[in-house]
Amino acid sequence: MSPQRPVVNQHFESNVPGLFIVGDLAGAPVVKIAMEQGHRVAARIASLPDARSSLPDSFDVIIIGAGAAGLNAALTAQERGLRVLVVEQGKLANTIEDFPEGKWIYAEPESRAVEGKLWLEGAAKEDLLERWRAAVRDTELNLRTGEAVTGVKRRTDAHFDVTTSGGSYRARRVILATGQRGNPRQLYVPGEDRPNVYHRLYSPKHYQEQNILVVGGGNSAVEAALALCARNHVTLSYRGKEFARLFKENRRRLEEAEKAGRLRVLRESTVESLAGPAVIRQGTQRLELAFDHAFVLIGAELPTQFLKSLGIRLENEWTGSPVLAAVLTVATLTSLARFHWLAVLACLAALVVAGLRRNRYAWLGLTFLIAYTIYGAKLGTGAEFWPYRGWGYEFFSVFQRPMSFWYTVTYTALMTVFGIQAAKRWGFDRKDRFQIWRYASLIGFQWVFFFLIPEVLFQWAVKYEWVGRELAADPNFANNAWRSYGIVYAWPLFFYTFFGAPHQIWIVWGLLLSFVIIPVLVLFHGKRYCSWICGCGGLAETLGDRWRHLAPKGHTAIQWEKMNAVVLGAAVVVTLLMVGQDVVRAFRTPAGVSIQWYRLIADVWLVGIIPVALYPFYGGKIWCRYWCPLAKMMDLFSAWFTRFKASRFAIQANDKCIACGECTRYCQVGIDVMQFAMKQETLTNVNSSCIGCGICITVCPMDVLTFGRPQPSEALIQIQT
Ligand SMILES: Cc1cc2nc3c(=O)[nH]c(=O)nc-3n(C[C@H](O)[C@H](O)[C@H](O)COP(=O)(O)OP(=O)(O)OC[C@H]3O[C@@H](n4cnc5c(N)ncnc54)[C@H](O)[C@@H]3O)c2cc1C
Ligand code: SF4
Ligand code: SF4
Repeated sequence: MSPQRPVVNQHFESNVPGLFIVGDLAGAPVVKIAMEQGHRVAARIASLPDARSSLPDSFDVIIIGAGAAGLNAALTAQERGLRVLVVEQGKLANTIEDFPEGKWIYAEPESRAVEGKLWLEGAAKEDLLERWRAAVRDTELNLRTGEAVTGVKRRTDAHFDVTTSGGSYRARRVILATGQRGNPRQLYVPGEDRPNVYHRLYSPKHYQEQNILVVGGGNSAVEAALALCARNHVTLSYRGKEFARLFKENRRRLEEAEKAGRLRVLRESTVESLAGPAVIRQGTQRLELAFDHAFVLIGAELPTQFLKSLGIRLENEWTGSPVLAAVLTVATLTSLARFHWLAVLACLAALVVAGLRRNRYAWLGLTFLIAYTIYGAKLGTGAEFWPYRGWGYEFFSVFQRPMSFWYTVTYTALMTVFGIQAAKRWGFDRKDRFQIWRYASLIGFQWVFFFLIPEVLFQWAVKYEWVGRELAADPNFANNAWRSYGIVYAWPLFFYTFFGAPHQIWIVWGLLLSFVIIPVLVLFHGKRYCSWICGCGGLAETLGDRWRHLAPKGHTAIQWEKMNAVVLGAAVVVTLLMVGQDVVRAFRTPAGVSIQWYRLIADVWLVGIIPVALYPFYGGKIWCRYWCPLAKMMDLFSAWFTRFKASRFAIQANDKCIACGECTRYCQVGIDVMQFAMKQETLTNVNSSCIGCGICITVCPMDVLTFGRPQPSEALIQIQT
């Protein structure tokens, strides 16, 4: 799971005015990007009219953390004439200092230039640190090491009081650059505070002929165990069954060491105590293991409590009262039912105020009201949901055009505006042509096939007989412009193509599209229909783009994807009943009932109301991922093609992954891409529900991932965290 990050604006300012967050903590995955953020924030602060503090005993800016981001920010701020203090709890660049001796630091991504005064090139950690120490010395940077910041409080005069283990300071602004590695995760077992129990391994060379216990199953733990086992007796205890998050090379070396008897591995084991000998539970067995040193290397924790104590908001935090939000939402609808417009406005205002006061459920109430109103009223006069029944559709049918027209106009406008924004974010700003073309395709398909043709061009084609005199004169064709959605929307997403007395041209085209064109597309491009063509996926990729990192991730989230098989099954049954009712009289009643229920459940609640209301909370792909029957059908096609070694679609990884997690974070369908990357396994539609959007490739700072063809050796497993 991606860790919850603090919420910052485009200038990296948090919800606490004057408090900025940069580097690893703000999502910078590598040194170069952390440095870039530090430099830009400091440059911006220096350019503000009130950059300097008016108080004599105050710094202009205090920077917390002397890592890549903090140091670069400090050097830029100092160069621009600000009074700067850097407070560091450990040593200068403590995170890098803690890397094993001789570790090579990559200076990726190559496509970006280094910004700011700090030196960066690919180098061994010792060389890099020597350069950084020299920079601090030469610039006489005001840096206090060994001093941990324990509190930051905003004063009424817009300054901050910063409390550390060594004193307290005042500053006009604060830059938080504390990274995420400062708080090693603990086991919380007796004896963990003993001096021979560590949460880092600095130099394996210092240990010889010792009994050593290493706890953990990630790369740090396995690398430590492998380095130590050359000269010591090492036991590796891991709670999992399989080492799922290992780099390919680490996995190979682990298996080799275990086979050769150089390393003892206890899988599915839990350390219960380190107070005397280590007490380890493995199944029903209780082992006691004497050790000279123990290394607990189970990752780091985001300093959530620390951030919360500073009043900083974290993303996706469910705070506030759900009851209040629910009452206000229902009150809005009840007031609407009685046409008490003032009460409606008051309830909406109360929801907004509650939202601004950090009641997240209030925002959910608002998004629900918007989606419910649009999809509940769009059903047509008399068919609307309460409280819109009998008046909603007409109410929204302004300027003598039906509501359905304005719905399409709004949909297209939203996709265009937010599509351009997303194209800038992923395409233009990163010079990524794949993403520019992708967004151009999504916006283009929306304009041409889901707006211009059904709303304008179809009518013109009939009026001016572009379709030929015969078709133009056939009312079964000419009066059904809505069927032109079926030009691009394939069965079973748009299954109306095949029933309700369609003109035969639609049946022929529908069969060709769904059972020839779509499979060929899938053969070469996997499920790219979802991320390049489809309007449903299009809204998610554009309007929903800013929330794509909130997509549900993990084992349960993947299990839930099975639901779209149920919707596909329902679509098949309804289609058969609807098509068959003309031949088999007995089908008529079940056909009528089933289409009504399918429309209500799938076409209104599952496509419209629920997923759109959830955009800001779980990303845009809830419908596509969990309920879309076409996505499931393409999934099946793609998996078959891959199994028969015919598919041309896959994502491959080279050996440069640094496990930063960016690819996983931004995958809108919740795939743990990083796991594939670390193991250098090929990602296909057999082992994932990838839709080929390429965002994981775009965000990877190490250029690890590329589209390619499936490899014959790939593991055929669904990856789950
Ligand atoms: C195994 C591994 C390998 C990596 N390899 C590479 C690589 O080859 N190339 C690359 O570019 N990136 C690599 N990275 C990523 C890189 O380490 C980070 O992107 C980078 O260190 C982030 O810099 P930062 O300044 O944001 O945070 P950090 O470097 O983590 O610095 C944060 C600083 O804040 C200090 N601090 C924390 N809390 C407090 C407090 N309360 N008070 C005062 N000080 C505090 C910490 O001690 C630390 O010095 C790797 C990461 C890992 C885990
Ligand atoms: S794995 Fe990559 S290409 Fe596939 S859906 Fe996720 S982000 Fe898009
Ligand atoms: S593959 Fe994923 S985890 Fe690995 S470096 Fe790239 S973005 Fe980070």
